Amino acid sequence: MAADNIADARARFGITETMSESEAMAALEQPAYVIRQEADAATAMVSDGDPTGVSQQRADELEDLVGELENITVDVDTECPDCEGAGESDCPTCGGSGEARGDAIGARAALQVTDDVAQAFGRISH
Ligand SMILES: [Zn+2]
Repeated sequence: MAADNIADARARFGITETMSESEAMAALEQPAYVIRQEADAATAMVSDGDPTGVSQQRADELEDLVGELENITVDVDTECPDCEGAGESDCPTCGGSGEARGDAIGARAALQVTDDVAQAFGRISH
């Protein structure tokens, strides 16, 4: 059941290139919150007696995962996605500024965060 909560948190996590930075950070907080609960539950099991050390190991592993999730940063794309920052005057997306418009994090940032989350979850045993 604890493993299901972790798998659910991982499955529910999703980030898109049109999210703002604050939306992306809020999305990251959701799995971190669930894993924090699971880590606390494992820690509570340690205090109930943990002769094999398995619960302690799990608590440590989940604490590490929370730390990793909390350390993920969103590297917002500031370059125009169409001309890649070249600022071509006929670029319809940026009109020649070379800068991304609006507050969307961009495709590269969304991919990077998705990868970071997958790697963090990939390091724990299931
Ligand atoms: Zn452009």
